[in-house]
Formats: sequence, structure tokens, C-alpha cells
Amino acid sequence: MNYLNLNLFEIRDELEKGNITSLELTKMCLQKIKETSDLNTLICVCEEFALDTAKRVDEDRKNGKKLGKLAGIPIVIKDNINLVGTKTTCASKFLENFVSPYTATCAQKLLDADAVIIGKANMDEFAMGSSNENSAFGPVLNPRNKAYVPGGSSGGSAATVASCQCFASLGTDTGGSIREPASFCGVVGLKPTYGRVSRYGVVAFASSLDQVGPLTRCVQDSAIMLSVIAGEDQKNDMTSSTNSVPDYEKIDTNVKGLKIGIAKEFFNDKLDKEVREALDKAIETYKANGAEIVDVSLPSLDAALGVYYILSSAEAASNLARFDGVKYGVQANKFADITDLYFKSRSQGFGKEVKRRIMIGNYVLSSGYYDAFYRKAKKVQKVIKKEFENAFSQCDIIISPTTANPAFKLGEKSGDPLSMYLTDIFTVPINIAGLPAMSLPVGKNHEGLPIGMQLIAKEFNEEMIFRFGKLFEEKNKEAQNV
Ligand code: GLN
Repeated sequence: MNYLNLNLFEIRDELEKGNITSLELTKMCLQKIKETSDLNTLICVCEEFALDTAKRVDEDRKNGKKLGKLAGIPIVIKDNINLVGTKTTCASKFLENFVSPYTATCAQKLLDADAVIIGKANMDEFAMGSSNENSAFGPVLNPRNKAYVPGGSSGGSAATVASCQCFASLGTDTGGSIREPASFCGVVGLKPTYGRVSRYGVVAFASSLDQVGPLTRCVQDSAIMLSVIAGEDQKNDMTSSTNSVPDYEKIDTNVKGLKIGIAKEFFNDKLDKEVREALDKAIETYKANGAEIVDVSLPSLDAALGVYYILSSAEAASNLARFDGVKYGVQANKFADITDLYFKSRSQGFGKEVKRRIMIGNYVLSSGYYDAFYRKAKKVQKVIKKEFENAFSQCDIIISPTTANPAFKLGEKSGDPLSMYLTDIFTVPINIAGLPAMSLPVGKNHEGLPIGMQLIAKEFNEEMIFRFGKLFEEKNKEAQNV
């Protein structure tokens, strides 16, 4: 039996039955990580920590102790999530040697569920990018085809799950960074509702948009992971919601009488033909199972990308101001005065894309431009939110492609920031509106590259996403085996 290919819920069964120990499983994953190291998925492998945890869990299991939901299961977290004693680099030269002084709430929740954290995933520097080519530790390769990018910024998190180095991972999503790589690598990626998961201990990119979420090989696993990491953390993250956490693991797959909203703005003529066909087929599955289709309208969808790059860059410029060469990371060794220290440390520590975002952010916040850009973007954000609210008064879920095209080749867009930004056109509106959304593999193109479908629900209705996602999987087993 190849244990590494199993879903998380399946390996959990095997562990519970005693067919394999966590130590054996963890060693298998470590071996797999070595064999597939050319993918460059991980910045750090927490070998010793993982083996120690696995041994402890095996011991506890033997002694009949009650164990958590992820007991003994190897999991990877993105390298912008703090885990005490490990390096948290955010794939930046700036933090190359930064060691976490504490553990993020989401990582702590994994540990409390007895998970084995096995590594920290490669990513775009400070989560800025759509291809993972902005990492100071080199790009990640797409496990489905190594000539292609895995997507970004959680490219390492998606590729590590797709290549069976672990059973699930955590990523972060500010404008699509969980869903786009999930779609490119053929895995399930969920961005929960803003506030569903605590961001305490997660290095901030754009605080009003950032959210942590799971990448998994199936919908059931996504529900398991969310049930572990969701929940309030008012002490440390005031934006975390006090809404109770439902039992996500119980998924009802009946969609009879439910309404699927289709917005023509998501299905424009730029959409790849094979992506469109895969989506049409998926929608047919739902119709065949009793769901109804309704047309909804999101007229301002086009404006979301502009709004996103203004708001996220403005917030990034403020959040990254703390990296000044004094407290964290890189410090220039020769400098004339304090201003020179800031200037040199930041020039040396940050990569090109991060510098670009800081410049855009400071520009849109500067006096004279604030009203024209930042304030206006905040207004348009309200309009976009309202349009989604209206749409959801007519339907239970909205379906769209995750991206207009499957994965692109390494190097194809790295010299053209605008075309890179355009990759996020269908994912950023969801962050702007604070909604939950999942990317689910629904097929592959003629080159065998995965195609992702985006399922979008109302605030705090992740259960609706799981319902539609799991039904699709049940009816289309072969589409999942990309
Ligand atoms: N690709 C988008 C960006 O570069 C989204 C990043 C993210 O969600 N972290 O900003």
C-alpha cells in the first residue's frame, strides 16, 4: 500500500487502526521530501521536531491517551507562519536568519491537534506574487509539470501537497495566494471568511485582507483542517470572529433546490476554452443533481484588481515599515546615520517586487494622492461588497473559474508585473468582499495541466462550499486524479 498517496482522512484511519505508526509515516514523508527536493517546495525541513512529535504521538496512542484530530499526520506550514525555534523567513533575504520567538495561533492549533509539523513552505517574498518566482530561495516547480510555475504566493504549500510530501498544508491568501496555486497544482485550496482563522503570529501583508487557510488533496480534508484552525482568538487577534465553529467534518452533499449564481463577468472572452469547458461540465453535474442555475450580476468586478493593488500595497507599505534594519533581520554593516541605515538595510534586504509594492503603497497614501487613490479604492470596495450581497440574495453559491488559464511556464511572466497581476483577476474580488472561497480541481487541459473551479459562498458559510465541493468529487472521481 502506498500510504503517501492517501487523503488525510484515510491516513488518519490507518494510524488509528495501527496499520502504520506516525514515526514510520513521518520517515516516509521525509524520504519523499529528499527524493523530490528538486521541486524546492520547502525552505526548512523540521526533521528533528517532526520525528520527536511523531514518537510522542505514537507513545500516547499506545498508552490509550485521547488524541487530537490530526494525530501523527505530517503537515507543512507556509514560511510566513511563526513556529517557535524555527526560522520564519517569508522567503526574504531580510529575514534569512530570523528565528520565531513564539508560535502563531494557527500553528499552535495544529500542534494541539497532535499534528506533526514537518516543514516550512517556500513562497513568494512576503506573499507578494502569483508564481513563486519572487522567492529569495529560488522558485518552486509545479509537480504536475516541472516547466511550469506552481502559482503563488503559497506555491510551496500547494506543491508539497500535490507531490505527496505531506498530507495537508497551511497557506495564506490576501488576493488569491491559496486558491491560485491550488488551481495550478491540482489540489483543494480554501480561503476562509475574513476573520474565521486567527492571524496572530502570521507575518502581515495586507491586514484587512489576509487570511490563513488549508491546502489539501480533497474537500473532506479541507473541512478537517478548517475545523482545527478556525475560531476566535480575541486576545491576540481582534479581527478573529467570535462566531462559533460548526462541525465542518459532517458534510451534507445534497444540493437539490439550491441555487448556483453565474455572473457573466467571470465568464468573459479572455477565458481559456478548456477552462470554460471544464466549468460547464462541472455545472452540469450540479444541475443533474437538482441544483438550479440563476444569472447574477457583478458589474464592478473589473474594478477589483485595481482596488486590490491600491489597498494591499498601501497596507503592505505600512506593515513592512517595521523592517528597518534595527530590530529584525538584515542590517547594513556600513552606514553614515540612521536614515542611511534604513535606506541601506531596506535596499539590501528586500527583493524587487516587494520594493515595487512599497513604492506603490507609499505613493497612493501620500498627501495629494490619498483621495484620488486610497479613499476612492475604499469606496469602490464598498460597491463590490454590496454587489456580492445582492447576488447572494438570489443564490446560495457562486461558481467561477479560479484563474482564466491553467499554469504558465517559469519565466513567462516574470518580466511583466502587470500580466502577473492579471492572473489574480478572479480571486482578488473575494478578498475585497471578505468572503470564503475554494479552488477545486475539475479537470485538466490537453497538456495535462490542472484546471480549478472557484466556489464562493456568503460570509461564514464555508459549509456550503464543502457541500458543493464534495458532491463534485463524489460524482467525478476521475477529475480529481490529475
Ligand atoms: N498574487 C497576489 C499578489 O501578488 C496575491 C498574493 C496573496 O494572496 N498573498 O499580491
